[in-house]
Amino acid sequence: MTGVRPRAVGELGLLADERLVGAACAGLAPMFDIDPLPGEDNEQHAERISDAAHVCRNCPVLDSCRIVAAELVRDAIGVWAATEHGAAGRTGRPKKRRTS
Ligand code: SF4
Repeated sequence: MTGVRPRAVGELGLLADERLVGAACAGLAPMFDIDPLPGEDNEQHAERISDAAHVCRNCPVLDSCRIVAAELVRDAIGVWAATEHGAAGRTGRPKKRRTS
C-alpha cells in the first residue's frame, strides 16, 4: 500500500466517523487491507480477506459501516462491511473460504 492511498476502516475510518465507534476491526487494520501483505501468497491473502469479512459479520456497527462505505465510494479501501472495496476488478463480497 502506498502512503497516500486511503486505508481500511480499522485504520482510518474509526477515527473519522462516530458511527463506527465500537467497530470490531479496531486495531486490526492490516487484516482489512485489500493489498497483499508482504510475503503473503494468493491463498493466504484470500484467507485473510475471508477472515476479515467474518469479523465484519459479527460487528455491532455493520449496518453503519455499509452506509459509511457507500458514502465514501472510492475512498473506502479494503474490507468494509464484509465487502471488498478498492481492488481493481475485485469489488464485491469476499469469496467463501474453502473448508476442506
Ligand atoms: S463492519 Fe467490518 S469493516 Fe465495518 S466497522 Fe465493522 S469490522 Fe470494521
